[in-house]
Amino acid sequence: MTSKTLKSIPCPHCKTPVVWNSNNENRPFCSESCRNKDFIGWANEEKVMKGNSLYDDVLSNELLKD
Ligand SMILES: [Zn+2]
Repeated sequence: MTSKTLKSIPCPHCKTPVVWNSNNENRPFCSESCRNKDFIGWANEEKVMKGNSLYDDVLSNELLKD
């Protein structure tokens, strides 16, 4: 939680570390496959997100863009 240059988070589906940058269109997932598999279940598990400010801040912004 102290990374300064590259922000990296575990893929919500398979826990593979994912570097967070604008070139990673599958973020926060490691791949399109994980993204597609996990999205519905992830949306139904808001409780997992509660208290995780990284996901709250970044993902709510991403979702609003769509
Ligand atoms: Zn993954």
